[in-house]
Amino acid sequence: MADDGLEGCVARGRVGAVSARGLFLDRDGVINHEIGYLVRPEDVRFVPGIFSLCRTARRLGYRIFVVTNQAGIGRGLYSEEEYQSLMGWMRGEFAREGVELDGVYHSPYHPEHGLGEYKREHEDRKPGPGMLLRGAREFGVELQESVMVGDRCSDVGAANAAGLLRMFLLRGTEERGCDGAYVEVDGLEVVERWLVERDEECMRG
Ligand SMILES: [Mg+2]
Repeated sequence: MADDGLEGCVARGRVGAVSARGLFLDRDGVINHEIGYLVRPEDVRFVPGIFSLCRTARRLGYRIFVVTNQAGIGRGLYSEEEYQSLMGWMRGEFAREGVELDGVYHSPYHPEHGLGEYKREHEDRKPGPGMLLRGAREFGVELQESVMVGDRCSDVGAANAAGLLRMFLLRGTEERGCDGAYVEVDGLEVVERWLVERDEECMRG
């Protein structure tokens, strides 16, 4: 996606109407460092800059979403309850940092390794756009003015399929690059800066 003038400016300033836009965050590798199958709060290490990014996004009027594939549930490595318990703890940590998470969505499915009802394709499983579409629907968010941060090609696929304005891929996890449209970044502070600059650009018209 080229750097694109005023595309995505509808939400603020230029056109006048304020409509909601979203910041969609992958969890593992973006909010917390990836350690494989994570269930215990004491194993969580937050990625530097995540709270600052979210506070800034909030200030600029973004709704904040977590969209996470959790095939570990489908594989039977941990339970839905353990996942929910960890996310409850995480929401608390965000709240202590002054950030409310608007929507937290997960996909427990895996088409090959899922057990029982979890063994299936599902549009929620990234690269499917299901969780993003749900967030947009439930919170009245304009997808074409929204952005996502992920660390895998499946995140790129989901963001592109949902028609987001921009996809930021954190460098480090995918060594060979991904198909699709995205901007590779070294850290969350780059995304935060982009949101601020974007907003200033839009306000200038
Ligand atoms: Mg990830």
